Amino acid sequence: MRLRNIKGADEAVLKSPCCIQSPQKHKGLWQDYFGGRNPVHIEIGMGKGQFIMALAKQRPQINYLGIERYTSVLLRALQKTEPDPPANLRFLCIDARTLSDIFACGEVKRIYLNFSDPWPKDRHAKRRLTSAPFLQIYDQILDPSGTLEFKTDNRGLFDFSLEEIPAAGWRIDAFTRDLHHDPTMNEGNIMTEYEEKFSAAGNPIFKLVASR
Ligand code: SAM
Repeated sequence: MRLRNIKGADEAVLKSPCCIQSPQKHKGLWQDYFGGRNPVHIEIGMGKGQFIMALAKQRPQINYLGIERYTSVLLRALQKTEPDPPANLRFLCIDARTLSDIFACGEVKRIYLNFSDPWPKDRHAKRRLTSAPFLQIYDQILDPSGTLEFKTDNRGLFDFSLEEIPAAGWRIDAFTRDLHHDPTMNEGNIMTEYEEKFSAAGNPIFKLVASR
């Protein structure tokens, strides 16, 4: 996502009660942070947060952490959730490369990747959020019975992911090349901002679910 730097975004994220500062200090303690024993699900690259905010409202028995690396993007999510964020939703302004500093082994029950940047050039393949280096990080933080759910409209990134994920030792449990016309996989689907935009433009939406 290309976005100009928004003046004041860094400060807004720093002082927001919805954003967790120094998330490393909660490593291994995320359930305690939220109180109770509810599972923790994360969305990596949440953008403006429409998807995770809707999920959090729909499923109060799950704790959600939305992850976004740019304050200028995260600011848009804060403007929508403040001053009264759902108790089961918080945001982290971090790069996904640092996830294993923030979550203990197996601490996350589900990972959502939605419309991740495609990085089409071969030399940038390692930056794709479904590439082997990221899968290795997810392997550390995801519960052994946890799942990875990935949606995109980008055929190249989807085909890459369908090869890369099994090559890293994961199993593809289900996939579709036309989510919105797949009654099983589309059941309960919540659209992201990008999903609304691309499907309105006539693009089919691809989705896969993977586990180990
Ligand atoms: N998920 C949203 C949607 O579907 O509408 C936003 C999609 S946008 C194309 C991808 C987002 O992922 C951007 O906001 C980008 O800043 C974020 N992102 C990309 N790489 C990331 C990383 N390594 N760590 C955290 N966020 C990342």
